[in-house]
Amino acid sequence: MNEYATQKIRLIMELRRQGISNTSVLSAMERVPREEFIPPTFRDRAYENIALPITSGQTISQPYIVAYMTQMLKPDLRQKVLEVGTGSGYQAAVLSKLFRRVYSIERFRSLHINAVNLFDTLKISNITSKLGDGYKGWKEQAPFSHIIVTAAAADVPSALVDQLGDNGVMIIPVGPDQGDQIILRITKDHHGMVAEEELIPVRFVPLVQGLAVES
Ligand code: SAH
Repeated sequence: MNEYATQKIRLIMELRRQGISNTSVLSAMERVPREEFIPPTFRDRAYENIALPITSGQTISQPYIVAYMTQMLKPDLRQKVLEVGTGSGYQAAVLSKLFRRVYSIERFRSLHINAVNLFDTLKISNITSKLGDGYKGWKEQAPFSHIIVTAAAADVPSALVDQLGDNGVMIIPVGPDQGDQIILRITKDHHGMVAEEELIPVRFVPLVQGLAVES
């Protein structure tokens, strides 16, 4: 048995107790090795239900939040999903088990490159990543039936709403940097009418416009 197996089972049980009932989501969380996405210093804490620092001042989200947002997205194996904020690549890897294809955008070159290498090492072949400003979405691949944003936006980027297809669903944390943020579920009906629903309070790193300047 893998050294993390016991801790992983404990985490999955905790997620179930916390209300994650979608068995495909739980199974995806079980299949993705979270330790691979975490810097060596924190790796022994990979299966604690907490957010952890990655590089470039960013964080890998808490497992409960990853599971919750994924469940609220209502994943569909026949569809493609857009993720804004690749970060460590963990959320994208979870999505890769639940969607036909994942498109993921990151504004830090180093994070983007690390994630691409990791997907390759883990033999995940249905993620297409790019370095770019996710605030603008991914026009060439739009429309998306599903969009997930993993950084908090001051307000909902209109490009993302435009790129959401009819009958689509977007999960996005909204609110000020360091302030009260809330996850929104934005849906479009079959006429393209947009509706918005508030889910749970959260704390995310900010969605920042433009590419990151790196030293
Ligand atoms: N989904 C990630 C979470 C990383 S934290 C994971 O599972 O690890 C959020 C990420 O969003 C950070 O890496 C940050 O650099 C990125 N980000 C912030 N604003 C962005 C933007 N406008 N476009 C693309 N990525 C952005």
